[in-house]
Amino acid sequence: MNKTEKENILIVDDRPENLLALERLLKRPDLNIIRATSGNDALAMVLEHDFALILLDVQMPDMDGFETAELMRENDETKRIPIIFVTAISKEQKYVFKGYDAGAVDYLFKPLDPDILKSKVNVFLELHKQKTSLEKMNEELRKANKKMWEQQKAVIEEERLKVLLQMAGATAYEFNQPLTSLLENIKLIKTDNKEGSEHIIQIQKAGEMISGIVEKIRTIHHYEIEPRSSEFSITDPGQKTRILLVDDSDDAFEIIKETLRDINFTDLSRAVNIKEALAVLKQDKFDLILLDHFLDDGTGFDFLASIAKEGIEIPVVVVTAFGDEMLVSQMIQSGAYDYLPKNKLSTESLSRAINNAIDKARLKAEAKKAQARMAEMSTIDELTKLANRRYFMEALEGELERARRYKNEMMLVIMDLDHFKKVNDTYGHLAGDMVLSEIGKELKEHVRYNDLASRYGGEELAVILPNTNQDSACIAYERFRKMVEERLFIHGSSQFNIRVSIGIASSNDSNSLNDLIAHADLALYKAKETGRNKVITYTPEEKKT
Ligand code: GH3
Ligand code: MG
Ligand code: MG
Repeated sequence: MNKTEKENILIVDDRPENLLALERLLKRPDLNIIRATSGNDALAMVLEHDFALILLDVQMPDMDGFETAELMRENDETKRIPIIFVTAISKEQKYVFKGYDAGAVDYLFKPLDPDILKSKVNVFLELHKQKTSLEKMNEELRKANKKMWEQQKAVIEEERLKVLLQMAGATAYEFNQPLTSLLENIKLIKTDNKEGSEHIIQIQKAGEMISGIVEKIRTIHHYEIEPRSSEFSITDPGQKTRILLVDDSDDAFEIIKETLRDINFTDLSRAVNIKEALAVLKQDKFDLILLDHFLDDGTGFDFLASIAKEGIEIPVVVVTAFGDEMLVSQMIQSGAYDYLPKNKLSTESLSRAINNAIDKARLKAEAKKAQARMAEMSTIDELTKLANRRYFMEALEGELERARRYKNEMMLVIMDLDHFKKVNDTYGHLAGDMVLSEIGKELKEHVRYNDLASRYGGEELAVILPNTNQDSACIAYERFRKMVEERLFIHGSSQFNIRVSIGIASSNDSNSLNDLIAHADLALYKAKETGRNKVITYTPEEKKT
């Protein structure tokens, strides 16, 4: 027990000289003795501190010891504190204090016998210590259980993600054949009809878009999913499992070396402390770390914290002495994968622990990858439900090229909410999010079937308008601006308005994708600069005369 974990003991007596005597007798470095001179005083103290034990004088003016104990019993927080009544009344009179847990109450008779006093106090303190450590142990086990359950859930989630990715891949594969046939037939119709009507061009465009999506899913599938090899194990031929033992004891090293001798294809290295281990880990690759808890420059916890800080993701198995269950459960919570009792070291237990840990680490790494792929596959912005920026940029490139090829004009609209920072500052970030989400809905309603609306940045939205000229784009987005201006946003008890500035540029005035974006940006900037809440269309110098 360290210094900060002293046990509190409360001594209650109306006579200061008695308190002084008691305190002198009880004085111990692991005890924190607190005094009270009346029943009321004692009641106040028990609410303020946690006590392992109370020594309570029975004969006191105003409120006697029994009354005081009765009141403590009525309070859930204090009713379990053990009490030793100190009384001058003779031993023959039998006192039974009702209502207390059996064993939580005892009596001492005046004049106090120092040895009896000390031994009784000792018994109670010991009981209290055991109770506390049992409670602590229960709590730790509960936490470790929860952690393991969470890990289990993560594994299930990983599997689910993998199945989803596989399904996406399979779907893409099935799409491909009918899609190819569709596109081929469109080509044939176009050859027959020479020019090809506008409708066919539209159908072809849609087909090509689907084809692009399918291709994307297929390629993602292709490099993502490697089926998990069931043979993966430390006996994997040609690949040694590299294990680092972090342990200062030579005996432990010899035992583990000996135990591993029967397991083929493992390669054991050793570091004697945290410093050396970190140096070795920086130089070489390892599949697994076996960790001793007591090291000369820190504990197993320190080691786990150090490798987490360094971003090292190698599974760690703790090698413990017998009876360290509490330690183990805490280390698992701190990131260790498993533990291995020193007295149960065998070829089997060691190889099983190694396999399990490496397998678990692999699953974790795969889940991380799968999650990243899922995010990569996503094309929708969560908050606004519009296309995300990445998808938008790809679409814009394709649309601009198509406009060129078919000699159509297309428009790019970029808009930015006015003084949006103020909305966050005044009504809170959640209100800001609500506004973005609502404006996303409005914009989705507003755009035509062939337009693509996206969240271009934080509070910036952008729309691609294929086959559109400047005038109609202007009219449409002037309408949108007005709608936003007139709309009331409600958050909690607040109501407010939002305004938006809009810039528009035409593909006909732009030589490249970058040009087009720069022009729309420039128009938006002008809208902001000249008072906000307006729509500005980009006009090249030569047109302005
Ligand atoms: P201006 O009229 O010049 O555009 O002023 P502004 O305050 O809108 O512009 P500024 O670029 O200074 O601030 C943009 C603000 O948008 C700051 C940022 O916190 C907020 N924002 C960006 N994305 C989000 C989001 O997802 N949610 C919320 N609530 N706010 C966001
Ligand atoms: Mg803004
Ligand atoms: Mg902005």
